[in-house]
Amino acid sequence: MAERTLRVCALYPDLMNIYADRGNMLMLERRCAWRGLGFELTAAGLGEPVDPDAHDLFYLGGGQDRDQRLVAEDLVATKRDALHAAAARGALVLGICGGIQLLGHHYELGAERVPGIGLVDLHTVRAPDGSRLIGNVAIEVDLPGLDGPRVLAGFENHGGRTHLGPAAAPLGRVLRGHGNDGRSGQEGVRHGSIIGTYLHGPLLPKNAWFADWLLGTALELGAGTLAPLDDALEDAAHAAARRAAGV
Ligand code: GLN
Repeated sequence: MAERTLRVCALYPDLMNIYADRGNMLMLERRCAWRGLGFELTAAGLGEPVDPDAHDLFYLGGGQDRDQRLVAEDLVATKRDALHAAAARGALVLGICGGIQLLGHHYELGAERVPGIGLVDLHTVRAPDGSRLIGNVAIEVDLPGLDGPRVLAGFENHGGRTHLGPAAAPLGRVLRGHGNDGRSGQEGVRHGSIIGTYLHGPLLPKNAWFADWLLGTALELGAGTLAPLDDALEDAAHAAARRAAGV
């Protein structure tokens, strides 16, 4: 029996999984296994309730607008209150791309307004001309428990422009790429234990340090207590993602 187990709830893994966002779960699973930590993955699909106390990390990947509409209605109807309760007790919530959009107040597509669960103070508007923000991206982030700023590198492709409200702070500062809206220099959102970002690729295999930060934070392990791993391949993936972004 593993001493500690990371318990992850993947929300709509079938519908919200573009750009191989599922790879984020695989990354966490492997890094737990290599360290003798347990990993428990629960999927919550359409109509399925979630237990706010049964998971350390709630994960919502990216999706096409069409799938996002379906998910939005269901998220509000069957999971919103549980996710608010989970975040209130400090559980991690990670939303990628379509995921960050759904964590906010709403996503506007012309006259249509797709509801979000209002976990963070942001809203998203699709560009009226349909133009998309696409490309390699690198951001600088400063997270609690780390000795200084770090770089996250990945890929973005979104039609939505996300605008943070006064109660929200960005996850990071854009070094290269578009970020939330192509203008503000802000990327993603972080509010307590809630994190959202547009970075795909998937995100975690290109940024092993961030996978470990999530793991350590979710299990409430102090900085430096996770056993080091041989990250030669992961470091090469990170370096390649940074090079692609030009950082
Ligand atoms: N449908 C959203 C948009 O285009 C999110 C897309 C995504 O997850 N890549 O803005």
